[in-house]
Amino acid sequence: GRRAAPPAKEVASVCPYCGVGCQVGFRVRDGAIKEVVGRDGPSNQNRLCVKGRFGFDYIRHPDRLTVPLIRVEGAAKDPADCLDPRRARAKFREATWEEALDRAAAGLARVRDTLGPDALAGFGSAKGSNEEAYLFQKLVRTGFGTNNVDHCTRLCHAASVAALLEGIGSGAVTAPFMAAKDAEVIVVIGARPAENHPVAATFLKDAAARGAKLVTMDPRGSALDRHAAEVVRFAPGRDVPLLNAMLNVVVGEGLYDRQYVAAHTEDFELIRDHVAAYAPEDMAPLCGVPADQIRRVARMFARARTAMILWGMGISQSTHGTDNTRCLIALSLLCGQVGRPGTGLHPLRGQNNVQGASDAGLIPMMFPDYRHTDDDAARGHLERLWGAKLDPKPGLTVVEIMGAAERGELRGMYVMGENPAMSDPDVNHARAALARLDHLVVQDLFLTETAALADVVLPASAWPEKDGTVTNTNRQVQMGRAAVPLPGEARQDLEIIQELARRLGLPWSYAGPREVFAEMAQATHSLANITWDRLEREGSVTYPCAAPDAPGDEIVFGDAFPTENGRARFVPAGVTDPAEMPDAEYPFVLSTGRQLEHWHTGTMTRRAGALDALEPGPTASLSPSELARLGLEPGQRLRLATRRGAIELAARADPTVPDGQVFVPFAFREAAANLLTNPQLDPWGKIPEFKYCAVRVEPLGQA
Ligand code: SF4
Repeated sequence: GRRAAPPAKEVASVCPYCGVGCQVGFRVRDGAIKEVVGRDGPSNQNRLCVKGRFGFDYIRHPDRLTVPLIRVEGAAKDPADCLDPRRARAKFREATWEEALDRAAAGLARVRDTLGPDALAGFGSAKGSNEEAYLFQKLVRTGFGTNNVDHCTRLCHAASVAALLEGIGSGAVTAPFMAAKDAEVIVVIGARPAENHPVAATFLKDAAARGAKLVTMDPRGSALDRHAAEVVRFAPGRDVPLLNAMLNVVVGEGLYDRQYVAAHTEDFELIRDHVAAYAPEDMAPLCGVPADQIRRVARMFARARTAMILWGMGISQSTHGTDNTRCLIALSLLCGQVGRPGTGLHPLRGQNNVQGASDAGLIPMMFPDYRHTDDDAARGHLERLWGAKLDPKPGLTVVEIMGAAERGELRGMYVMGENPAMSDPDVNHARAALARLDHLVVQDLFLTETAALADVVLPASAWPEKDGTVTNTNRQVQMGRAAVPLPGEARQDLEIIQELARRLGLPWSYAGPREVFAEMAQATHSLANITWDRLEREGSVTYPCAAPDAPGDEIVFGDAFPTENGRARFVPAGVTDPAEMPDAEYPFVLSTGRQLEHWHTGTMTRRAGALDALEPGPTASLSPSELARLGLEPGQRLRLATRRGAIELAARADPTVPDGQVFVPFAFREAAANLLTNPQLDPWGKIPEFKYCAVRVEPLGQA
């Protein structure tokens, strides 16, 4: 008869996809992950979504890089190689680690020593561990000698963080999404958690089932709508007039919390006077929402004993993303909805470790813990800790770095686990900029679109192969553990960063992530009382944490805000148009984003069998009535063109998409949505307008 397979070993770790940070158990047999189960983590309580359950076979995909690669002498860097992995691969040869690391470091050192530190830049990753993020930014700041270090937070919540730091003195959430269980009213705006934070969405649905009033606000409909007490569908790009109209109602009808405003805020007069000009009746035509609904929702929020606001990229990925967030902060402060159970401001963080990577200092204008590079005290502290001189001048952001590379001012880059050749707006320019570099080092799992333009490619470690900590959207620092061995000659990212550092003259010898964590905790005040041992024991600890045996504060700022005088600030926001409005030539509005099954640029999920089977190719979602008007059947091909580029893909009928709009996911290389997007930046957050540009739709006929 058949012999029963030996029992699988279960390794406790965390899901590497979204910022919810579900705790998983990797069930391992014969060095391979056979199954993934949800564990009882604080943010998932045994629940997992389709990515966390079925999204791991990418780590053994045949495309996985297992040997270092060096560009063949004389092989030209051609942006077209980004689209043709086979042609890209033919331009590389295999190398030993010694040769690859020597070559990688020598090229970076050459740029630094001939053109100066600011001719270099590094992109770290929100998919790696805190320890990797910390060491990466330390390498760029002390080995390269520049603050030109950033990561994809610039493309997701930079606007939210800018407004939160300005308004309340902290860029992280004031309460976890589980606080929704105590909320009377839950506002979800510019977010599609059922697709992008699926397990968080289940907790919001639970809250609604128990009687909380859910308000969903978005240009597009979503799966949460059928659980909602109010569904507010507004015109894309019109967040500020809509939210200012709500503020107008709260102030005008005297619904604000006078005591809270007097005790905890400043500049109330500014917002009071500003929003007087935004009567709902005047704003209704602009934002496409009836005035009586604006009044109803504003009153519902203001009169609730407890209310919280959760938001996503719909708020932040806009040239007025910081203004959008300022309005949400003002609404929350006016109504005293911060710092108590069931209240809070919660930007739903996208990547598994975007909170941690930001805390660890992968930000060009800030050191670890959001201390500004020009803050003399912060710089002095780090110079002593790191034994190195630091530059007070803020560095360039993601899109600015690409611009400098395109102009030939920036000549060398080190990219760890990011894919700007897919993720940047107006990506033709990013690809041209990367191809123009004198020296590009890419450290990744696959020959990504970015790696296709590299000089040296270093094969890295996947999340289930490494030990390390990550910090989720709820400020929960969690322990990830290696479940399976590295394939071939692939190495730990932490080791690769150190090998490069040593070759750039830094005498580093961290024994492993535990040692890096200990140093990071000295540089990062928010990690006080959280140690590696504790995380090994407890799996998850929330920061800030007041004592070595305290559980950590889930809900913060009940007494005071971390600002100079302890008060939060109101910052009024004016109405501006999106940077590119539709016109006769480009009559539709394009919005880009994720799908439930696919993660960002698709590097991992398109190589995960189950996820790829569910969503195998690129689609453009339009309303059924627009498809009918265009004479298109679902599945037929169409061409989308903007002033920057064009792609061809299949039409999908999606009743959640309003007339006049098109939605395209950005995971698909063969129809890269970012060939179309507008690189125009929000002036404060420096985030591009991924959620709005003008596009033309041309039917191509039968597939
Ligand atoms: Fe992973 Fe997010 Fe899904 Fe949880 S909700 S399983 S963290 S992708």
